[in-house]
Amino acid sequence: MEINVDLHSHSGYAGGVGDISLAALALSMKKKGIHVFGTGDCLHPSWNAKLRESLEERETGLFALKEGGENRQARFILQTEIIITAETAVSPGRKNVHCVFLFPSFEAVSSAVALLESWGVKNTIGRPFLKCEGPDDVGAKVVKLLELDPGIELIPAHVMTPQGVFGSANPVNRLCDFFGEAARKINAVETGLSADPVVLDLIPELDELALVSNSDCHSAASNRLGREFTAFELDELSYRAILDAIRARRVAWTAEFNPGEGKYFLSGHRAGKQGHDDGYCVFSPDKTPPDRRCPICGKPVTIGVLERALEISRTQGADRKLQKESKRKFIHMVPLSEVIAYGIGVANPSSKKVAALYERVVQALGTEIELWKVAPATVREVLEGVVPREVIETIVEIKSDNFTFEPLGFDGSYGKLVVGRTSPWFGVSTVKMPEKGRGELF
Ligand SMILES: [Zn+2]
Ligand SMILES: [Zn+2]
Repeated sequence: MEINVDLHSHSGYAGGVGDISLAALALSMKKKGIHVFGTGDCLHPSWNAKLRESLEERETGLFALKEGGENRQARFILQTEIIITAETAVSPGRKNVHCVFLFPSFEAVSSAVALLESWGVKNTIGRPFLKCEGPDDVGAKVVKLLELDPGIELIPAHVMTPQGVFGSANPVNRLCDFFGEAARKINAVETGLSADPVVLDLIPELDELALVSNSDCHSAASNRLGREFTAFELDELSYRAILDAIRARRVAWTAEFNPGEGKYFLSGHRAGKQGHDDGYCVFSPDKTPPDRRCPICGKPVTIGVLERALEISRTQGADRKLQKESKRKFIHMVPLSEVIAYGIGVANPSSKKVAALYERVVQALGTEIELWKVAPATVREVLEGVVPREVIETIVEIKSDNFTFEPLGFDGSYGKLVVGRTSPWFGVSTVKMPEKGRGELF
């Protein structure tokens, strides 16, 4: 059976998020078609207590709501993110690396809490910081954590974002540069919103690892939960079966954002930065100035995901070029509520009008994920008369990968969706000089 999982989320206890109920998550999972969902923040005492009170173990290592009728179909995996921080020998300063941890039982979670507390870690902020001396210490501590229970799994999160292991902040070139001896315990890495298998294929070290995709959502909203996910082909539904698939690198396919939407895809400086006013600059890797300095403010530009991946390819001795396709199976997708909003020309994907149309599509197809699996002809047939024609055509264009983001995301600003055409990832060089203060600068 094909099982859709989304194994990275956050509860209301991770900074700045409102209260999130398990029932709301379960309902959203049902509409989306996500079978198994990571609880987020399972080390946090209050969220942990809520999980213990509301969930019961259904299949080994998988949990369901004790109450709530249909919502009891949803399965949860105990999961948290830990931010590991250490200095490395590769670049100056302390590097923070976000890591997803999966746990097979509440007992394993309790052991991890006790071990982390013995190292002085505070579990009260949703995603705790584990401060380490350097890669040797990271390796020793992570191995100790993993040895608490053979079912605990570490997955480096959103590896290409600035807070990911391969990100541009305090860069390192290899997993062992940061994880030390624990690097060999890594079976999978998370693609994150700003990279997909095509981008990660540039990095030789990832060839033998599984790539998984998760939403990293902080909300049960339909354009957040399951906005990226991983499909596994399993013989049975259990924690062990999912773990075995990850460890054997058996991913059926992943659903990915188009990386061009990611906030850090190309290199540059966004408008509004100090010394910029409304001026900005954006460069694809072949167009970044040789000194990597911003032509407007003179400071180093923020290096994007694509440029970073090409750079790591070189430092790992491969110098690969970006290919059009990957041997890994994946699709690019845009959350349905954002597709509907685009189709009917509404700015807010959370508006009532969009929500009503979302319900109609889900009722017609069973789940949102089904929409991305069926042929375009089926979409037209099933949705004819159910939603406006513009929505159907927008869905078909996205299924055909005929969409892009303009400008592509860079330096913390998301790309803006454009449907009906694609745009090149290379040859991009835009410098818009600031209107105000221009005379003083130049
Ligand atoms: Zn994170
Ligand atoms: Zn600048």
